[in-house]
Amino acid sequence: MSNSFPAARGKLIMSCSCCHTSPKKTRMQCPECGCNCVPVSMQTMLHQVRAPENRRIADGDYAYCASPDCTIGYFSTSDSIPKSSLRAFQPGQQAILCHCFDISESAWRTALATGRAAAMKDFVVQQTKAGLCACEARNPSGRCCLASFQKMSSS
Ligand SMILES: [Zn+2]
Repeated sequence: MSNSFPAARGKLIMSCSCCHTSPKKTRMQCPECGCNCVPVSMQTMLHQVRAPENRRIADGDYAYCASPDCTIGYFSTSDSIPKSSLRAFQPGQQAILCHCFDISESAWRTALATGRAAAMKDFVVQQTKAGLCACEARNPSGRCCLASFQKMSSS
């Protein structure tokens, strides 16, 4: 079926339920790489940080550093947790684009190159629309991955 709601499509991408779970807070600057990082909820951190570090997370407002070259995963003004303590950054782990539906960056690149990208993204969009994604727990950023699809498609 072709998409009969072209005008709603962009809106849909920006309005899945997981994008509304964290209130808009100001971005924080990563103490290591200096990039502007998005705030992350304690729920996301508890699902991402491995044991035993997940039992020792100090209170505070944390942000997630998405830079692949930076060793910092989460940080607050007084504490930081390295990426090596996060589930998504274990040795041998591929770079993942969609953590809810297990789509790696390389799988997405292959799909783009072989004309299967639309079908792959439609699957994710459909599941997200049906409220079946789990970005807040699965994605280390706690955010919806659909923006990352857009970014990689246009780069
Ligand atoms: Zn950083």
